[in-house]
Amino acid sequence: MKNTTLLLIAILFSISVKAQDKSSFSSMELNHIRVATPGLFSQNQSIYLHLDSLTEKDYVFPLAGGKVISAYGARKGHSGADIKTCAKDTIRCAFNGVVRMSKPYSAYGNVVVVRHANGLETIYSHNFKNLVQSGDKVKAGQPVGLTGRTGRATTEHLHFETRVNGQHFNPNIIFNLKDGTLRKGCIKCIKKGNGIVVKPNQDNDRIAQNNK
Ligand SMILES: [Zn+2]
Repeated sequence: MKNTTLLLIAILFSISVKAQDKSSFSSMELNHIRVATPGLFSQNQSIYLHLDSLTEKDYVFPLAGGKVISAYGARKGHSGADIKTCAKDTIRCAFNGVVRMSKPYSAYGNVVVVRHANGLETIYSHNFKNLVQSGDKVKAGQPVGLTGRTGRATTEHLHFETRVNGQHFNPNIIFNLKDGTLRKGCIKCIKKGNGIVVKPNQDNDRIAQNNK
């Protein structure tokens, strides 16, 4: 009897912890890809993604050995890069974070959206199957899905997106998509009207040049 009560408390506690993680996201955040991140630009008009502060265990190329079959912007409105290996290959989370959304979503098919601590979001789409749920804490390298062709896709591949405040930008700014390595240095994201300009931060270079 006592053991049963303890077990029940343990189960209820684990459910409440999980529900709390998920409930920290709004309904919009749980159900849509293009959503502004609350408070991200409340202090400053610019935020920085410090890729230079990441160690080797902090990042992973999401589809090992993958080849880009369609670049960002290659087709009208192409909001990510299409990366191909084979069907049902393991898609891995690029950085540590929390799964914001995991569900079928129109042309994206089965899609996983992960929010990272620095404000970056990564998106993994057309999955045969999603392996994580909203609210899950994920580590860099953790499997989040298997490659598929759900949604609007003509071949099995990963449609990989990077976004800040809901706005997509070229993932080639974060990863060198040709060789799967992480870019070096720091990325600057500047809020301009309703949009975000994302580019490698040149300020350090300028300081270095001025000191020459
Ligand atoms: Zn695509």
